[in-house]
Amino acid sequence: MRKILIVGAGQAGLQLALCLRAEGYDVTIMSARTADEIQGGWPTSTQAMFAPALEHERDYGLNLWDDVEHPHLVGIGATIAPVPGVKALSFYGPWDRPGASIDQRLKMSTWLRLFESRGGHVVYHPVMTSDLAGLVQLYDLVVVAAGKGEIVDLFDRDPVRSVYEYPGRVLSAIYLDGVEWSRDYPEPRVRINIEPGVAETFTMPGLTMSGPCEILLIEAVPNGPFDIFRDRPGPTEHLRRARLLLNEHFPWEGELYYRARPAGPRATLAGAFTTTVRRPAAEITPGKYVLGMGDVVVVMDPISGQGANCASHSAHVYLKAILERGGKPFDREWMEETFETYYHEYAQHSLALTMTLLEPMSQHVQQMISAAGRYPQIAKRFGNLFPYPADIHDWLLDPAKGAAYVASVAGGWGGRPR
Ligand SMILES: Cc1cc2nc3c(=O)[nH]c(=O)nc-3n(C[C@H](O)[C@H](O)[C@H](O)COP(=O)(O)OP(=O)(O)OC[C@H]3O[C@@H](n4cnc5c(N)ncnc54)[C@H](O)[C@@H]3O)c2cc1C
Repeated sequence: MRKILIVGAGQAGLQLALCLRAEGYDVTIMSARTADEIQGGWPTSTQAMFAPALEHERDYGLNLWDDVEHPHLVGIGATIAPVPGVKALSFYGPWDRPGASIDQRLKMSTWLRLFESRGGHVVYHPVMTSDLAGLVQLYDLVVVAAGKGEIVDLFDRDPVRSVYEYPGRVLSAIYLDGVEWSRDYPEPRVRINIEPGVAETFTMPGLTMSGPCEILLIEAVPNGPFDIFRDRPGPTEHLRRARLLLNEHFPWEGELYYRARPAGPRATLAGAFTTTVRRPAAEITPGKYVLGMGDVVVVMDPISGQGANCASHSAHVYLKAILERGGKPFDREWMEETFETYYHEYAQHSLALTMTLLEPMSQHVQQMISAAGRYPQIAKRFGNLFPYPADIHDWLLDPAKGAAYVASVAGGWGGRPR
């Protein structure tokens, strides 16, 4: 039986570990934290996941929250406010199939316990780079899925595919109870408010340990008015500041927060990271490599909600490649091919969407968003970029094709403006 070691018990590592276990592999996870520590820790994400990624989990029966009572996400509702407090346009982009935000503390602690109960080995130990020289001798394959941990420095930055040197946004998030439902958006949508050049806010219903909740993610343009969480205030102060910002900039959102309160004593996170692509294979001893997965190799600002989805896609692609490899060695060429498959099928499209949303809006993108405000069909296509970012190239990134598309909608049967 082939022996595989996975470093890191997050979306990528645990999904791959559980799937390989189901396929009969001898799998070990090395995790920096126990299930109790993950569950009792601070939030790590807002983790909105869309249908294509959730399907990978369903294929292996890992969809443990599908039947738990909580609001599944049915689409995005976006509002653009060019100046504080003024709505210029809004649109709703429904998804064909629902998504969900299951608190990673709940999901990963449950999956880790499930993995152990299914005969997976777990070693609770934060792996150091120096540990790997011994570990690569013991396993047929070592996969590093340690998220943004220091061990990622093993993997060289890809200077061609990495466009940024600095974080595009400063992030803050809070899990809340008591946020009211929006009259404009009665269904459980991801509500997005955008003040171009200043901030984007995302509010989404989710499921946390205590039950359903709302999660507010603020994507602040660095040094702008929303960039006021770098000191990592406690949950009550975090909520106070968020309310002030929402009331001033997006009052239609702020009015939903009068009765809001933090969902537990550990309800916040704050930080910033640079969207980066790294090379997938790192040489540990001469001729012995480890393979990076998830955020280790492609880390993205969460403005487009792609990171956890891509972590799931990478686990899915790596799983297929491991199964197809049979008894042959997991050498460097195989690692690079496996990553390229993931990059071409998934990551490059998610990066394109992320970069489009991080950058100042080009005139063409502004025109497409304005068209989404007028034509429900275009709004739907825009909304579906989040689950299906590969669709971005043919219209949102191509002014000629985009203009032709808008003209066809405007002139066709779907062209009845709102
Ligand atoms: C504020 C915020 C909001 C986000 N919102 C979304 C969203 O809505 N949708 C979305 O798709 N993505 C979102 N993301 C991104 C998403 O959370 C990540 O891309 C995803 O969790 C990456 O999964 P991963 O398994 O690669 O890494 P992680 O989830 O980070 O897991 C890595 C694991 O490895 C462990 N570890 C680290 N170092 C070591 C070590 N040396 N030894 C052993 N274990 C180690 C860590 O403790 C952790 O458990 C968001 C991120 C942030 C910060």
